[in-house]
Amino acid sequence: MSTTSTLIGTMLRPGDPGFDAERRGFQAARAHRPDLVVAAATAADVQAAVHHARDRGFALAVQSSGHGLAAPLEGGMLISTRRMREVTVDPATRCARVEAGARWADVVAAASPHGLAPLSGSSPGVGVVGYLLGGGFGLLGRTFGFAADRVRRVEGVAPSGEAVTLDRPPAGGTVVTAVEIELVELAGIWGGSLAVEVTPAVLDGWAAWSADLPEQVTTGISLVPFADDPTLPPPFRGRHIAMITLAATVDAAELVRPLRELGPVIHEHLGWLPAAESHAIHHDPTEPEPYAGDARLLRTLDRDALRAIPALTGPSAPVPSVVEVRRLGGAYGRGRTVPASAREAGYLVRTVTVLDGPDETAARALHEDLFRPFAADDLGRAWTFCYGLSRTTD
Ligand SMILES: Cc1cc2nc3c(=O)[nH]c(=O)nc-3n(C[C@H](O)[C@H](O)[C@H](O)COP(=O)(O)OP(=O)(O)OC[C@H]3O[C@@H](n4cnc5c(N)ncnc54)[C@H](O)[C@@H]3O)c2cc1C
Repeated sequence: MSTTSTLIGTMLRPGDPGFDAERRGFQAARAHRPDLVVAAATAADVQAAVHHARDRGFALAVQSSGHGLAAPLEGGMLISTRRMREVTVDPATRCARVEAGARWADVVAAASPHGLAPLSGSSPGVGVVGYLLGGGFGLLGRTFGFAADRVRRVEGVAPSGEAVTLDRPPAGGTVVTAVEIELVELAGIWGGSLAVEVTPAVLDGWAAWSADLPEQVTTGISLVPFADDPTLPPPFRGRHIAMITLAATVDAAELVRPLRELGPVIHEHLGWLPAAESHAIHHDPTEPEPYAGDARLLRTLDRDALRAIPALTGPSAPVPSVVEVRRLGGAYGRGRTVPASAREAGYLVRTVTVLDGPDETAARALHEDLFRPFAADDLGRAWTFCYGLSRTTD
């Protein structure tokens, strides 16, 4: 065992200015508590840190944005990649080289001047590497498939400290320093959102509508409980709102017409938008908050189970929670680097409870109750959306 490894990059210990900011991320319910943070600026910093941790037997974790924090470190070393955000796009090969700390917003900004786009998801603030490690359920997933399948090359550091290159996201242990991903030609997206009050007719209507969609259209329905808060706009205040989201590579104006018949439309913003503004489709939160999440891949969507959701999660439920059902299928079914369950799933149901009142135990109990009626079609967890759960939970 060597004891000569030397750390490079910025090192922070408890009590140092910047230590807390560096260990904290988007998930405000918990944070890593390492003995040492290496704020890496280069792949060489990462490699030196891995050597150092290996030589001393330190537990090691990596953090980019902190959106996906599962099991926080207690002691050991945290490698923070948030300074490694360089993105270079080669329009000739339709490829982007992305450093490990980059967010999707960085890639979208670099790609869009070339008429190109990455297979990013609902939130531009999510880190590229963490998202790819979870497969990557993108805005246009039914058209282009899992983002992980568009990885051409991964640069990383193996647990031994050796620099490695791989042709797909690593299964575990390797710290990624950069990825090369394929971009798609995409000037614009036809999409946005349409909001109606949650009713059985809306749930049934969306389920029937989404069952038979062309691959060029990706959609989901988010059931959002709004508190009875006077600062909220009246149409939303105290109500349970279904936000139907949509992203398509073709004009879907005709296709969405039946959705307007499902109930009085409270808000609608649908049409062509530049690929650079794809973040406007989902309105995901941008500031850190405490949350617990769980998600299941479903072979098909049981209408009775769907109709049971509002009573459990609406504004007057004991643990109000957001539930999103996404239609999968299409190009997702041809995934290469993901588990078979992700290919076979027709739908995904996920829930997020903001822990600003309810505690995590109550949230987890609700999540179990919520998914129980879907058991007959359950293909297993969609881990990337299981916020706060580590894989030993199953
Ligand atoms: C608001 C929100 C919206 C989301 N929308 C989508 C969506 O539309 N589609 C989708 O598929 N997912 C989505 N997700 C899930 C997201 O992809 C995962 O939470 C992902 O883990 C976040 O990655 P991160 O880098 O941002 O987070 P981090 O917490 O920084 O990283 C997550 C984990 O990835 C690993 N990791 C990160 N960097 C490295 C590295 N360099 N080397 C090795 N391992 C590393 C670590 O294990 C780390 O704990 C969303 C999450 C949130 C909170």
